[in-house]
Amino acid sequence: MWRKGNKLYSIIARKCPHCHEGEFLVNRNPYALAQAGDLLPSCSVCHRKFEPEPGFYYGGMYVSYALAVALSVSMYVAVTVLAPDSTQTTRLVWVLSALVLSAPALYAWSKALWANLFIDYKGVERQPGEDAKWFA
Ligand SMILES: [Zn+2]
Repeated sequence: MWRKGNKLYSIIARKCPHCHEGEFLVNRNPYALAQAGDLLPSCSVCHRKFEPEPGFYYGGMYVSYALAVALSVSMYVAVTVLAPDSTQTTRLVWVLSALVLSAPALYAWSKALWANLFIDYKGVERQPGEDAKWFA
């Protein structure tokens, strides 16, 4: 499961959604906030573009929202189960802390997940009949 050709690999490792080899983001560290979520214009290995049209990654906001909700619910349930005597304020602090600390990573993963929803693995070599919009 954790190998090239699997979308989960491309999403978690933040690799090119086309070939799963080249880098997807300018900086691999999502906590380098000056470049957080910045995409490379194209893959350094297969040379396909990452943005088929302007505004393509606006949809990633919905993915980011879904990931944040999932994290919030998970954190709330975890604190409630592990510390049943905790107050609602304590639980809220835990949820907000998890959200703030994970926001850069969620942002990077949301873009990779959004790209992988629409871009299929093709390998490094250009495939016959492949759409020219992916090439600069
Ligand atoms: Zn590539």
